[in-house]
Amino acid sequence: MKRITLLGATGSIGLRTLDLVSSFPEEFSVVGLAARGSNVDRIADMCRKYSPQAVALLDVESRDQLARLLTPPRPELLAGPDGLVALCRDVDADIVVSALVGGAGLLPTMAAIQAGRTLALANKETLVMAGALMTAAARTRSVKLLPVDSEHSAVFQCLTGHSRADVHRILLTASGGPFRETPKAHLAKVTVEDALQHPTWKMGAKITIDSATLMNKGLEIIEARWLFDVAPDQVQVVVHPQSIVHSMVEYIDGSVIAQLGVADMGVPILYALTYPERRPTPAARLDLVRVGQLTFYEPDADKFPCLRLARAALEAGGAAPVVLNAANEVAVAAFLERRIGFTEIAELIEDALTDAPTGPLASIEACVAIDADARRAVQGAIDVRRGGRTA
Ligand code: NAD
Ligand code: MG
Repeated sequence: MKRITLLGATGSIGLRTLDLVSSFPEEFSVVGLAARGSNVDRIADMCRKYSPQAVALLDVESRDQLARLLTPPRPELLAGPDGLVALCRDVDADIVVSALVGGAGLLPTMAAIQAGRTLALANKETLVMAGALMTAAARTRSVKLLPVDSEHSAVFQCLTGHSRADVHRILLTASGGPFRETPKAHLAKVTVEDALQHPTWKMGAKITIDSATLMNKGLEIIEARWLFDVAPDQVQVVVHPQSIVHSMVEYIDGSVIAQLGVADMGVPILYALTYPERRPTPAARLDLVRVGQLTFYEPDADKFPCLRLARAALEAGGAAPVVLNAANEVAVAAFLERRIGFTEIAELIEDALTDAPTGPLASIEACVAIDADARRAVQGAIDVRRGGRTA
């Protein structure tokens, strides 16, 4: 029986993970749950169904509300960022599924690594912020970082059984998002609803917007650099609208190995949970004859500047990826709140990167401080653009 702590239990990845736990009750149990706490009734239902030892909610009031909804014996109830860290550190899990969205996952994920727990990593923003520190901590404690992101799960599978020294490059596929065919001149006027219409994947709002700007693929380039210890220029992006080929690895002899499947996050989540074994997934099967055609294109770097900005941040290193991620999170939230237009997302990130501090990233504490400064600065820049109070 594998004991799971699930960070982000109420999200798109979290709910899919709980489905899998229900499908394999003899294989998995849930020992820890964490979420923001905006839907306490739902979390109470999860507690009744999965009987975790501990639950951590960001919000103290939600924690107290949860306490009132549950009859004893209750799980241990924790709250706040420290509660999330304590959950990862103290609850004896065999695997921590890191599926919070954004930088909020950084400290809990680091705590899981420091406690020596195997990590199933969906929360790519943490690797973008602190890839060098996280992978170094994982190496020191022999902690496995198992990818959940579908592209990285594909690469991980394509690398199995091969020598890393023989890798020529990694080809990350991208659906191209909802604006693949939209003329550049129209992008300034697209709406939140347009941007939330992802052609192939059903996901949380933040990653769906990231997929529309192609920042998601930029973040994934950085994620691949750290997960697979490759040089930035060894990671290439190929647009593949059908989302069937989840990614590929090209070897020095010219052989290209690909992983294919239907677009269902259940497959990479389950693989991370059962690795190195496989289980029959209750997912649809790939029927290539029905798919008929697989097509591939060069990404349009001019139309989607986020791809270039992410690469520049990776090459600059140090604080730049932290600033890239913070600026993106603040800008995407502002876009979702209809405070800025779609193309302003990239503009704000570009401005923030110009002001990014230089030098190496010494510690997680430094990372947290740079993240907070960058968020404040971008929030100020948005206020200035909207003619409100100055930064
Ligand atoms: P989501 O928005 O659906 O869910 C996010 C979860 O995190 C929720 O449970 C929410 O309560 C929790 N949360 C958010 N902020 C929090 C905070 N400050 N403190 C505590 N809890 C907080 O997001 P998602 O689509 O499930 O994505 C989660 C992560 O997985 C992201 O990093 C995303 O990039 C990555 N990912 C998602 C998919 C997908 O198919 N959804 C695919 C690949 C990678
Ligand atoms: Mg992905």
